[in-house]
Amino acid sequence: MLVLDGSHGEGGGQILRSSLSLAICTQQAFRIENLRANRKPPGLQRQHLAAVRAATQISDAEVSGDEIGSQTLVFKPGKVRPGSYTFAIGTAGSATLVLQTVLPPLLSAQRPSTVRVTGGTHNRGAPPFDFLARTFVPQLARMGAQVELELLAYGFYPRGGGEIRAEIQPAALQPLHLHERGELRRGYADAYVAGLPMHIAERELKVIGRVLGWSQDRLNVRVLPNDMGPGNAVTITIEYEHVAEVITGFGERGVRAETLAQAAALEAREYLRARAPVGAHLADQLLVPMTLAGGGSFTTTAVTPHLESNALVVETFTGRRIRIEPHQEGFRVEC
Ligand code: ATP
Repeated sequence: MLVLDGSHGEGGGQILRSSLSLAICTQQAFRIENLRANRKPPGLQRQHLAAVRAATQISDAEVSGDEIGSQTLVFKPGKVRPGSYTFAIGTAGSATLVLQTVLPPLLSAQRPSTVRVTGGTHNRGAPPFDFLARTFVPQLARMGAQVELELLAYGFYPRGGGEIRAEIQPAALQPLHLHERGELRRGYADAYVAGLPMHIAERELKVIGRVLGWSQDRLNVRVLPNDMGPGNAVTITIEYEHVAEVITGFGERGVRAETLAQAAALEAREYLRARAPVGAHLADQLLVPMTLAGGGSFTTTAVTPHLESNALVVETFTGRRIRIEPHQEGFRVEC
């Protein structure tokens, strides 16, 4: 049985989720210790437990240690079972992260699957739905995967209640080499408000427009139904020929709209000025699909602890090294 140390690098939930995906895809059992050792509280929380349950269900796995607060988990997967699944997190925990856990194994199944996940869709520290739909899934598509995503309801912290759906067609993933952005196609920003005054979104967009020099027609106020709130997020989407980046600011009690919009706009400006196609978040998320494709490489703007932890997980499951080297445009990563 493979043994992983959950305190490595980022020491968060991702080591667990990538291990679950790879365990099913490579049909190897694992034990993970010190789960989420770098988080408070440590151990499994609802979102992580939902990912464990989802992975268990799609692979008839044997599992122990699957309870809230647990810092050790043993997971022995069976064969992946495609089908129609609904996974409920029960809190505002990230629905996109649960979907990302089951996506790689279901792509390698024999038949299509439909997955619905309820929980949060726009959570700090997780990919918002927009990132999944515009940044992550299009790269999977370039690897040959057909995944259709739908956002059925928005879910913000702490209320949750969001819902996403994915139609997954199995595919043998092909290696991807992503080193160029291609030409800049368009850039736009969306500010979402649910159950909150519209001026929050307008103030956020004003800051973004000013920092990025974008005119009004690229700035969209999105007023969502009151019962999906209270919630606020702003996404800045930058689309190139070969890659799109979505940068997000999450509204929070006590944080001024201008402050979070300014931070997101500065991040977007930095991405626009850089040349590497793969942003910090996409970088760590590409490792598992690239591994299943039998290889791939990309140039990224940054190496994060998330990327390093995920590389270690991949190395543990495959016995192959992921090379991360400095490059004139950032870092070159080779799977
Ligand atoms: P924790 O253990 O901190 O509760 P977690 O299970 O929520 O963690 P992490 O281990 O921190 O998750 O992993 C979060 C994942 O979400 C990483 O893949 C990271 O790149 C991604 N992510 C975080 N913020 C964003 C963002 N704004 N846009 C896209 N992806 C993001």
